[in-house]
Amino acid sequence: MAFLRSVARCNSFVSKKLHIRSNAEFNGKLLRSELLASHRYYNELKRELNTRFNSSIASATSGHKPQQKATQNEKGMSPKDPLDLSFNNPNAAFKSKTTGELIRGYVVYLLCSSTYLVDNNLKLMKVFKALLGERLFALMMKQTFYGHFVAGEDRHKIIPTLERLRSFGVKPILDYSVEEDLSQEEAEKREVESISSRLSNVRLIVDSLFGYNDSRSSTSQAPAAPVTSSDKALPQYTVDKTFADRRYKVSSARTYFYLNEATCERNMEIFIKCLEAVSGATFGTGITAIKLTALGRPQLLLQMSEVITRTRQYMMELVGGQGNVMTHHKTIKDLEQYYSSMGDNKDVKEFLKNITSDKEGILHLFPWSGIVDDNAQLSETFRVPDPKTGQMRRLTSQIPPKEEEMFRNMIRRLNTIAKAAEELDVRIMIDAEQTYFQPAISRITLEMMRKYNKEKAIVFNTYQCYLKEAYSEVCTDLEQAKRQNFFFGAKLVRGAYMEQERARASALGYADPINPSYEATTQMYHKTLTECLRRIKILKDQGEAANRIGIMVASHNEDTVRFALQKMEEIGISPEDKVICFGQLLGMCDYITMPLGQSGYSAYKYIPYGPVNEVLPYLSRRAVENKGVLQKIKKEKRLLRTEILRRLIRGQLFYKPEGKYIPI
Ligand SMILES: Cc1cc2nc3c(=O)[nH]c(=O)nc-3n(C[C@H](O)[C@H](O)[C@H](O)COP(=O)(O)OP(=O)(O)OC[C@H]3O[C@@H](n4cnc5c(N)ncnc54)[C@H](O)[C@@H]3O)c2cc1C
Repeated sequence: MAFLRSVARCNSFVSKKLHIRSNAEFNGKLLRSELLASHRYYNELKRELNTRFNSSIASATSGHKPQQKATQNEKGMSPKDPLDLSFNNPNAAFKSKTTGELIRGYVVYLLCSSTYLVDNNLKLMKVFKALLGERLFALMMKQTFYGHFVAGEDRHKIIPTLERLRSFGVKPILDYSVEEDLSQEEAEKREVESISSRLSNVRLIVDSLFGYNDSRSSTSQAPAAPVTSSDKALPQYTVDKTFADRRYKVSSARTYFYLNEATCERNMEIFIKCLEAVSGATFGTGITAIKLTALGRPQLLLQMSEVITRTRQYMMELVGGQGNVMTHHKTIKDLEQYYSSMGDNKDVKEFLKNITSDKEGILHLFPWSGIVDDNAQLSETFRVPDPKTGQMRRLTSQIPPKEEEMFRNMIRRLNTIAKAAEELDVRIMIDAEQTYFQPAISRITLEMMRKYNKEKAIVFNTYQCYLKEAYSEVCTDLEQAKRQNFFFGAKLVRGAYMEQERARASALGYADPINPSYEATTQMYHKTLTECLRRIKILKDQGEAANRIGIMVASHNEDTVRFALQKMEEIGISPEDKVICFGQLLGMCDYITMPLGQSGYSAYKYIPYGPVNEVLPYLSRRAVENKGVLQKIKKEKRLLRTEILRRLIRGQLFYKPEGKYIPI
């Protein structure tokens, strides 16, 4: 039955796909090639599902297990194991693995414990590749690191992994993990070139010398405003060559370096293919991970982040007190009063007209919905009245038309992806990145949520709890979701860029954005999660759909996972409410993910895929990250050893994993 349903889904899938493509805004050539590729993929997928369906019918008629599975599925009776909260049960952790896979995992973790191997991993991989040749090297990698951490070369080859995980109650977050293997010099060159084009270079210098003064005398009625101290370039948003290689001290996150608009277009296509793979192979339950820095020029995110920070400073100067615009609870009437000294100014009137507000006060000073919808001109949009000078003040430097167009391209790409996700009925999770991009990424994502999360959570944001501001950011965004009536989806992480953030803050002379200690980060994580759960509970108690708030606890920390489970129990939120899910990387902490999935919780594995030779940087990062979490490796190794031994003693070395679980 499950396969019948999936074949039927496939049929509607292609018509949906056609619809998406007809809506898509990319050019005709791309559209045709995409359509052909999608059609080919659909046919292949359909063939594959039909084959599997036929074989399941064959086994069913011969009385084999698949029929039991189908019957159980029909009745909706997924088996449910009791959950060992100490996550110490090797059988529960590894019942989805063959003994060969367990041995491979053990060897990989042994290798990850060697400082020499980890420190020189990328060099060694290249040496082996040169010695063995591509084919033998690929074989060696598949028997070790690649086989353990990566699901397969392409979206077809990953299907067995996805299906196996699914049969053990676990869903995928797909990530096409191909990374360019750039040298540090090349990465720095690209970053500096992309961040400071010749024009912006001049602009950066001029702006930092003179501040952002709106010199558009033709539209501005008041005389030019004098430069104020607040107009000086904010150090966290300046470009510094020392930190141009954004991979510096980052092991658990991927970095995209901007090359040109065509590369961003290709990245968009890859994300859409991920969505299709997720939709085809998981029947709507999967997620695709998206990085905004892959979709456009990072300079634009940097500039927009600066605008957001300046807007907060502006509100602080105007009305006093910390926080963002929403937390000030000011009304348009209040602002009219602040600007009264500017008289009957048409720019001020226009500005006030574009403010987003409701009965509880002002939500945004700028028309963000317009920015993610249509052809907004950024440098024209981010202007505010300055009562001190009686003039409009620009919060960003003048952006050249070409760069404005690049920004619109980035937004168009994101919209195309979100529309595809909506049509395919799958979800996208926007990753959180460095703090100098993050305010813009978060703002844009929230507007995407407002636009696409009207009926359910399709777009998810990510919040890094190592940030001092994490809790207040989440509270504000939850409040916006409530006031603007959209579904709020969030992935909570601790954060992947800590060392780089701290080094950059110290070198460029701005306040460290990271919590002072690991304990403070954990506290922030737990406090933020508790607030989300509290709001979910309120929704439940009020008889509203609890899933208006959906949270992913993305952590390898078992204390945090336990904390979430205990809080769920305490507050009265069950897995069936489908509001809390858990996420870990493929090949890491199976002892957390698998028991969660098998006991009926919503559990996800972050699934990287891509050709062997092109995911080496990803594998390298996994090795480094694992070296940094020795306690977790120790536990993983101990559990693997116990399970291998148990199978040996019980004569189960040829154990074949067959799950009958159905993910919630
Ligand atoms: C499914 C998934 C998705 C992810 N997506 C993202 C993403 O979009 N963006 C992103 O940035 N990261 C992301 N991460 C990575 C994540 O942020 C963490 O780097 C990683 O998971 C380690 O944190 P932990 O809670 O798993 O483990 P733990 O070992 O408990 O925590 C380690 C983390 O604690 C924090 N920390 C350590 N020491 C200190 C200190 N002295 N002061 C303050 N904080 C400290 C750091 O963030 C460090 O990475 C993701 C992780 C997963 C599993």
